[in-house]
Amino acid sequence: MATLEIKNLHVSVNTDDGPQEILKGVDLTVRSGEVHAIMGPNGSGKSTLAYSIAGHPKYDVTEGEVLLDGEDILQLSVDERARAGLFLAMQYPVEVPGVSVANFLRTAKTAVDGEAPKLRTWIKDVNAALERMTLDPTFAQRNVNEGFSGGEKKRHEIAQLELLNPKFAVLDETDSGLDIDALRVVSDGVNRFSGQGDRGVLLITHYTRILQYISPDFVHVFVAGRLAETGGRELADQLEAEGYDKYTRAGV
Ligand code: ADP
Ligand code: MG
Ligand code: MG
Repeated sequence: MATLEIKNLHVSVNTDDGPQEILKGVDLTVRSGEVHAIMGPNGSGKSTLAYSIAGHPKYDVTEGEVLLDGEDILQLSVDERARAGLFLAMQYPVEVPGVSVANFLRTAKTAVDGEAPKLRTWIKDVNAALERMTLDPTFAQRNVNEGFSGGEKKRHEIAQLELLNPKFAVLDETDSGLDIDALRVVSDGVNRFSGQGDRGVLLITHYTRILQYISPDFVHVFVAGRLAETGGRELADQLEAEGYDKYTRAGV
């Protein structure tokens, strides 16, 4: 069994007024086979948590640990984290000018596996992954995220997730900007990934809508840089009905 452990994580960013602490002691363990949803209001630090796990240089870990199967990943480069089995899908995916989806996916797969995938099976795998995401095969020739619609970006991310098949996936607002059909396609992809049984998912979201399609084992309420409450999926229903008011008034 694999584990992703976040222990007392404190993270700061540099602002014009000096360093500002965004994460104020996050504790969370995700085990393989589990889907965790993190829900919280805008500005609470959810993306900061995702970027910090990913190793984004803007985010300065001042205290705490992130362990993947007991190994401290905060010492690892972004690439090394991917090789160790982490996958991060970002709320605002970047454009990669001049790099086609096909080349991008092949480079990512080669980096994660340490060797290039066999060409013939790889092309088949890519086409199948795109088709499952209802993306046309010609999509592979487009430049990464260049002129992609919101839905295409998210579907591309999930195709990437399925092809790389990491141990743990951190998905930041994978549901944002999706119409109902795209939401279903993307959710199906996440469910196929987690349905393998030995994978872990940390699903970060602002809305409960995606949880109609992806059933989390745990729901965490994230407010003002830390977890305010943990429960089962009934907690998502409660948030849907009551919002974050009770937590934001109690906090800060
Ligand atoms: P969420 O994803 O929950 O909406 P974020 O993690 O994006 O929250 O942001 C949390 C807080 O940290 C916000 O107040 C935001 O302005 C601030 N913040 C995040 N990243 C940066 C950054 N690179 N520079 C300055 N402030 C940042
Ligand atoms: Mg602390
Ligand atoms: Mg965010």
